[in-house]
Amino acid sequence: MKIAILGTGYVGLVTGTCFSEIGHTVTCHDSDETKIDILQSGDLPIYEPHLHDLVRKNRDAGRLFFTKILEDAVEPSEVIFICVGTPPLEDGDVDLTSVEMVSREIARVSHSYKLVVEKSTVPVQTGSWVEKTIKLYGPKGIEFDVASNPEFLREGSAVEDFLHPDRIVIGVQNHRTEEILRELYAPITGRTFNCPIHQDCRRDEGAVPFIVTSISSAELIKHASNSFLATKISFINAVANICERTGANIKDVSYGIGLDRRIGKSFLEAGIGFGGFCFPKDLQAFIRISEKCGYDFRLLKEVERVNHERISQVVEKVKSGLWILREKTIGVLGLAFKPNTDDIRFAPALEIIKRLMKEGASIRAYDPKAMERARTELPEVLYCQDPYEAVRNADAMLVCTEWNEFKELNFERIKGLMRRPFLLDGRNLYDRDTMLRLGFEYIGIGR
Ligand code: NAD
Repeated sequence: MKIAILGTGYVGLVTGTCFSEIGHTVTCHDSDETKIDILQSGDLPIYEPHLHDLVRKNRDAGRLFFTKILEDAVEPSEVIFICVGTPPLEDGDVDLTSVEMVSREIARVSHSYKLVVEKSTVPVQTGSWVEKTIKLYGPKGIEFDVASNPEFLREGSAVEDFLHPDRIVIGVQNHRTEEILRELYAPITGRTFNCPIHQDCRRDEGAVPFIVTSISSAELIKHASNSFLATKISFINAVANICERTGANIKDVSYGIGLDRRIGKSFLEAGIGFGGFCFPKDLQAFIRISEKCGYDFRLLKEVERVNHERISQVVEKVKSGLWILREKTIGVLGLAFKPNTDDIRFAPALEIIKRLMKEGASIRAYDPKAMERARTELPEVLYCQDPYEAVRNADAMLVCTEWNEFKELNFERIKGLMRRPFLLDGRNLYDRDTMLRLGFEYIGIGR
């Protein structure tokens, strides 16, 4: 099948690349010409495990193309995926300018039937706006269908998630659309493609659930899923607050809760709060969507409040050890909002750093992939080549992202490098007793 991807960011690039990997012919377009230049030169504008090899392989195979001209992507394609950004506005609403813009453009350049699929995360009922826009601006006599196909991939394991999803959700208005999308995803739902990541993977797990709903339900599934996951994180962070006040250990408590299959283990790790391009904005958006429907979703407002509070709590913990921050140096390990990505959008580490600097601290920082992006947002930080450089002469070490390489550090060496061995473990990576034995002043989260 011939597919166009409009918006070649984290979601669009992974989606386009994976569709080409399972045999479709894909043309990706982005309005950011620098991104297309980078992709055409054989490089990637983002870091995501496995992606570089797959892009190269499918370009070489003549199944994956990049273009600056939207028409060149849309014209030859039957299915068009909208993967543009949907950033938050000041008031928490979603900025749908890019979605509207590409809808008009699709209408303008189409001369044959197109199925237009929203993959960007959008408020419920955006589908009808996309449909109205295309019909209004499109040529008479050309047929269009609109569908919703929310994306659930996680940055850091995006390729794996796309090829091995828990479920595929499509929101459609007719049988034709359902059939096209079923065919498109057939190698994934039937697990018949040759997995480029693992051999012999998951073939015994049966077909991937393919859920067909109305467009509005599909749109809601995405916002409700992310809001639920955010709720789980804020819940365990609130429980961590109770652990700190009672001497209980959040690690034991999470383990004890998570073994209940009705609850599940994931998203029960207490820490410095959630960030990234999805949870904070999708939660905010869902609160606004609910308000507009006349429902005050107070539960989600509290989830948001608990998450904001994490930042101040971390700053307070640093101050509890260092007292005055002026002229103190803090070595920060981890800037990305989660490991295995270079994405720093709404990363809690950045917010914490800003607050620490505001109180007069100097920051040395290290992240395996996110320093280049962070440099633009926080030029005052001293970026270091490795974790050891980051803690040199520091009065405190603060771990903000749980990269695997931070789990294997040489703490004898770190202690020797630091001015004062004060360790704030924002992701509960280390064993408290070991750290105390090594001579660190250790503060974790919820224990
Ligand atoms: P992104 O910022 O990485 O990518 C969006 C891309 O769209 C950018 O490259 C931008 O230049 C491009 N774009 C904007 N306007 C355009 C236009 N008019 N024409 C062509 N291209 C245009 O964002 P992302 O993380 O890929 O997210 C995209 C959407 O997917 C959002 O709605 C997001 O909520 C959703 N989503 C993201 C994730 C994730 O983990 N990042 C997961 C699931 C869903």
